[in-house]
Amino acid sequence: MSIENGSDEGTTPSPATGPWDAIVVGSGLSGLTAAAYLAANGQKVLVLERYDVAGGCSQTFRRKGEWQFDVGLHYIGGVKTGAIAGVLEGIGLLDRIEFVEMDPDGFDTFIFPDFEFRVPKGWDAYTERLVETFPEEADGLRKCTGIFQEIMAELRVAGIPNRDSDLEQYLAKAPTVVSWGMRSLTELFDDCGLSEKSRAVLTGHAGDYATPPSRTPVTLHAGLVDHYMQEGAFYVRGGGQVLAAHLIDVIHTNGGRVRTHAEVTSIEVEEGVATGVTLEGGEQIAAPVVISTADLKRTFLDLLDPAVLPEGLAEIVDGYRMATPLVCVYLGLDFDLNERMPNTNYWLHPRYDDERSYEYVSAGEFDPDPPVYITSATVKDPEWTGHTPPGCSTVELMTWTTPALEAWGVDSDETAPRYSRQEGYRAAKDNITELLIDGAEKVLGDLRSHIVWKEAATPMTQTRYTGSSEGSCYGIELATDQFGPLRPDYRTEIEGLYLSGVSTRSGHGIVGAMTGGVEVASAVLGRNLRAEVKDGAVFGDSGALTAGGEGWDALEACRRLQDKSARKKAALAG
Ligand SMILES: Cc1cc2nc3c(=O)[nH]c(=O)nc-3n(C[C@H](O)[C@H](O)[C@H](O)COP(=O)(O)OP(=O)(O)OC[C@H]3O[C@@H](n4cnc5c(N)ncnc54)[C@H](O)[C@@H]3O)c2cc1C
Repeated sequence: MSIENGSDEGTTPSPATGPWDAIVVGSGLSGLTAAAYLAANGQKVLVLERYDVAGGCSQTFRRKGEWQFDVGLHYIGGVKTGAIAGVLEGIGLLDRIEFVEMDPDGFDTFIFPDFEFRVPKGWDAYTERLVETFPEEADGLRKCTGIFQEIMAELRVAGIPNRDSDLEQYLAKAPTVVSWGMRSLTELFDDCGLSEKSRAVLTGHAGDYATPPSRTPVTLHAGLVDHYMQEGAFYVRGGGQVLAAHLIDVIHTNGGRVRTHAEVTSIEVEEGVATGVTLEGGEQIAAPVVISTADLKRTFLDLLDPAVLPEGLAEIVDGYRMATPLVCVYLGLDFDLNERMPNTNYWLHPRYDDERSYEYVSAGEFDPDPPVYITSATVKDPEWTGHTPPGCSTVELMTWTTPALEAWGVDSDETAPRYSRQEGYRAAKDNITELLIDGAEKVLGDLRSHIVWKEAATPMTQTRYTGSSEGSCYGIELATDQFGPLRPDYRTEIEGLYLSGVSTRSGHGIVGAMTGGVEVASAVLGRNLRAEVKDGAVFGDSGALTAGGEGWDALEACRRLQDKSARKKAALAG
């Protein structure tokens, strides 16, 4: 079904009306998960989304009605028994969503100037392959992956420390987390005596968080690799939008509501207590709880009146470094890529020095020879026919890049034409698009003569669609000085105002967004929902869920959820 032919309303049950117990700003997976958990626990929840499709970065989009592309879900782990599985299980969704596994013997393939490395699932297999590749570094590599595993094993028992943790007790339970968790990968690699090449292999998929090794917390990297090692890497059958559509089903089935085309322009606070929000157009909606999953800086510096912020907070928020943004090229190809590519992601690394590309980013320049991440939904999910016309393929090419407006040729003068119409921007975008295609052709052979659809999304595109600062999709940088307890908590100092999403403690990615949604719902309810789910709880009326099945379209279920009466009122007023 084409996006142009969509029905007027979403396909999930008729949405509820207020009064609301809680308002969630933003319908990314953090906001939808928080709302689903609250609704399934009896709260009346309203989710407000500025864009006209719900799902945030997990969205898919379609071109010409038959080419579907993923924005921000290319592969994930933890879907069978891990963190994502736990989140889905607690609201009755685990059996309703299908995940397709990537090649367990090489879900990622790193291509370096003089060798390739295929990443298998399972810590033992991974460590042995590293040792086979660098036999002279066997001891250092075993020590390094051993520390990653110890950290994750300790975290599974002791959890993440918070401000109430008794540090002595925590140290007894989690000594490796305490000694290594917040230090940098570079320190760990130095300690293990690793070479430049083996370091580059260990961080071959670090584009998944886009922080240079000198600032990457060991726990962040250990967590990323572990979530693939435990049970493999997966793609969601039908694309990322499927997760959002099922979460909306939970929200609507349990008396909540998701509204698109509903941009929050301010969060209202009276006498230090959050009281609701105001939307673009002036509509005011009251609720005693407001959860913002919008960009952290915009939440505190734009949506809240400076007069209601605790002293010094604006400076702290302003001082956070945003994560390095991505640029993504989407290609529709007139042949079946399965003929050329196994079920893997390629990571093309033109050099071994991982710091180098971030030096370009911080200098506000483009990397002339950027690393390229190559992934294809039609390779990962060949049995689902909705990705392309028959016999065709899609491929998505990504790299990390500078957000500097000058580099992108964007004139920030407010009187200038919209950025996407500016000549400098178009030239910069075309240039990086062609660089990424050059990289992909080194791995996949001629693509250019097969391209039937081509477009690119830049940091400016990310900001336009999700309102993120500096085009970042990973929130504030996941770095040693902004990680774990050093990231903003789910509770804020303003009573009734909570945070979730990529800039909070749970961090970025699909796992971070979804687990953060559960954490913020726990904070609102004053319960430990994750522990309750571990003990077997399933919240809400899962028997009444309807999403999925023959002919169901996740994208249609997530779009045009705007308030009809608000639209009529706007039309009358206009
Ligand atoms: C190109 C790309 C590739 C990625 N690949 C992967 C991957 O393979 N695996 C993985 O795990 N992660 C990946 N990610 C990261 C992952 O998609 C995100 O970290 C995660 O989805 C973020 O979820 P979120 O809910 O915190 O934020 P978002 O998804 O950004 O949601 C925030 C929502 O809030 C809305 N909003 C903002 N301001 C307002 C306002 N004022 N009023 C109303 N609504 C508002 C936005 O429009 C948006 O919908 C990728 C991301 C991108 C962009």
